[in-house]
Amino acid sequence: MKRILILMSDTGGGHRASAEALQAVFQERYSEQIQVDIIDLWTDHTPWPLNQLPQSYRFIISHAPWLWKLAWRISENQQARDPLFKAIAQWTYGSVRRAFLRYQPDLIISVHPLMQHVPLLILKKMGWAKPFVTVVTDLTTANMNWFHPGVDRCFVASDEAYRRGLAAGLAPHKLRMLGLPIRPSFARQTQPKDELRRKLGLQVNVPTILLVSGGEGMGPVLPIANSVVTQLSQAGIAGQLVVICGRNTKLQKRLKRERWALPVHVRGFVTNMPEWMAASDCIITKAGPGTIAEALISGLPIMLSGFIPGQEEGNVPFVIENGVGAYSEDPTEIGRTITRWLGSEHAVMTEMARRAKSLGRPQSTYDIVEEIAGLVLAEEQVG
Ligand code: UDP
Repeated sequence: MKRILILMSDTGGGHRASAEALQAVFQERYSEQIQVDIIDLWTDHTPWPLNQLPQSYRFIISHAPWLWKLAWRISENQQARDPLFKAIAQWTYGSVRRAFLRYQPDLIISVHPLMQHVPLLILKKMGWAKPFVTVVTDLTTANMNWFHPGVDRCFVASDEAYRRGLAAGLAPHKLRMLGLPIRPSFARQTQPKDELRRKLGLQVNVPTILLVSGGEGMGPVLPIANSVVTQLSQAGIAGQLVVICGRNTKLQKRLKRERWALPVHVRGFVTNMPEWMAASDCIITKAGPGTIAEALISGLPIMLSGFIPGQEEGNVPFVIENGVGAYSEDPTEIGRTITRWLGSEHAVMTEMARRAKSLGRPQSTYDIVEEIAGLVLAEEQVG
């Protein structure tokens, strides 16, 4: 049995989701040959204050996005970054080494931008020459720290991320553009829309708008919901809105107290996102890479309502230039756009849905896993 260790951290929901998607496909395809473990390297295997990284990230993103933007830019500067990574590698050597010795990986996968340089320095010091693979979970403007020329493979999901990899010194034969590692259940979702709507408690023959804002339910969800419902009902357009609040229970309670002019279905964190997307006709979301990739697979036109500075910035032009959606932070404008899509611009929306479907990559996780399995199993033959 070969062992793969996935390094991630809960800074945002996407890294864990990607790690779990990869693990699920390894389990589905290679359960007899490969065992996969996932660890949060920062939280569970480094000392304070590094182990507070996920909490600090959440706090900064919601309370001081400008500070995040600044930190993001500084972290891309090689001269500022390299001495810092060296110091962190020295400081965390003991605890990270213990984690590697405990899991005894034959191959390591990183799904986090801060888990290339430090682990590679530590592995070098340990004298371990294990294959190391990066799976980039950002869509376009991936931070330069994702890219380390010393890795064996680096999987990206867009031309922009590919270019960044080359600029960071990665050899072209190490870069693969296969898409984001999305949960395999998206590839299996084939139930017809009507059936799904019935199952989910929605009205059957009514255009359906999905409003979701990342795993944490961030941003002005209530004003957006209000604007969409008000403008649709004023225009006399039938529609229903599904609002998925993620882990934001306060938002969920607040929305449930509202009285609406159209049917509004409020949910908390859902584990069947492929079904909610397949039951919908379009989506309103912040520019999260996971949600965008999933919406494309589900053939949903995308109304972007905001982005996290830095890593999500490039996702806005990605959606617009590919002709699969629009962008506005203004709830009134968002309501207007959705009303046009469902009314006078229905043909435009249909075309965006078609383009989205053709851009979506439901097989991406399978393709990535196949290639990584090839690397780790080849080791076996050589060894
Ligand atoms: N998600 C989910 N259930 C929810 C809300 C969100 O499964 O109730 C998933 C969503 O499908 C996506 C991820 O959470 O896979 C959010 O990732 P994204 O990159 O869009 O944003 P993040 O939360 O990482 O900022």
